[in-house]
Amino acid sequence: MTSDHPPFLPFALPEIGDEEIAEVIDTLKSGWVTTGPKARRFEQDFATFLAQGHRSDDTREIHCIAVNSATAGLHLALEAMGIGPGDEVITTTHTFTATAEVVRYLGADVKLVDIDPATLNIDVAAVEAAITPRTKALIPVHYAGLAADMPALLALAQRHGLKVLEDAAHALPTTVGGGLVGTLASDATVFSFYANKTITTGEGGMLVTRDAAIAARAKVMRLHGINRDAFDRFTAKVPSWYYEIVAPGFKYNLTDIAAALGLHQLQRAHGFQQRRAALAAQYDALLADLPIVRPPRPAEGELHSWHLYVARLADDAPIGRDALIEALYADGIGCSVHYIPLHLHPYWRERYDLKAADFPHSQHAYERMLSLPLYTRMGEADVERVVRSLRRAFGR
Ligand SMILES: *Cc1c(COP(=O)(O)O)cnc(C)c1O
Repeated sequence: MTSDHPPFLPFALPEIGDEEIAEVIDTLKSGWVTTGPKARRFEQDFATFLAQGHRSDDTREIHCIAVNSATAGLHLALEAMGIGPGDEVITTTHTFTATAEVVRYLGADVKLVDIDPATLNIDVAAVEAAITPRTKALIPVHYAGLAADMPALLALAQRHGLKVLEDAAHALPTTVGGGLVGTLASDATVFSFYANKTITTGEGGMLVTRDAAIAARAKVMRLHGINRDAFDRFTAKVPSWYYEIVAPGFKYNLTDIAAALGLHQLQRAHGFQQRRAALAAQYDALLADLPIVRPPRPAEGELHSWHLYVARLADDAPIGRDALIEALYADGIGCSVHYIPLHLHPYWRERYDLKAADFPHSQHAYERMLSLPLYTRMGEADVERVVRSLRRAFGR
């Protein structure tokens, strides 16, 4: 049967191959379905992956701690840094709420700042202006997969004695100065393996740090505050029923079923990035004559993960953002908005008495932005279809 309507083109789709599926089946048959040997191997492979993209002369070990979400990893990292009531943590308003909510879990306060309109990443001058004697940490987000200005942020943090936690949920793989995010001189970095991220385990995340004290604390807090790694139970050669609780920890461990996916997704991460970059370049070329501000590009020689392709309507575009999304949907094309800035959400707005006028660049970008479909299983014809639909909506 044929149809006049092509199938719906979603905004995002994971690419799960036969190897991932076989590894999950192997895990299910092994009898060890929760955190065990595959989660440990995923951590080791992740450390190897990062080491291969390491450009600094910092020789400390890279600790990788698998968790069941990036949100969990961000929470564990801040907890291990000692963030608590009375402290302030600065982050961008132009992010997902997870980046900021973890600060509130710990009873500390969030200071939201505006973005640089050229990159949509956190504005370094705005960060500097927001620092007070209570400020303890910064959380830059590598928005859409384009690195934040880490050299400037790290220098600023060092001058003021602040911790830096990178929200790298979008940034696998992304580079700064040729070095992969995850190997920079920040205190900790957290990746997400949520369903629509650049690699996926369904739900999952990785906390990465070269600070041995942060790693040790996060490992204890990841599993109920038990003073011993869960893997010991699997590898121990002696009866291992005894443990001690040293803190009221969390339940943030990654299952081996999820890690089974991650093992193979990680091997494909650079290939996925190349595919995404090619699709982004195709969009860039086809959108050149439309009233659209194309996404910022990375500096020469740097990797952009291209987690998202965020287009912004030009100020003189003949159609509004909401109507444009409706038009794309009518043509069977999904898109999204990243993000409704935190300052517009009731919780954040009311808690900190925030006004849109305090975040003019984020507000301006939000009102004009849409994330076009971008995922590895898309073909060139899919990109052409999206652009044809945009042209129609613009009356071209
Ligand atoms: C997806 C995302 C998170 C949360 O990731 P989870 O793995 O779903 O917890 C955090 N920050 C940003 C910027 C994200 O996009």
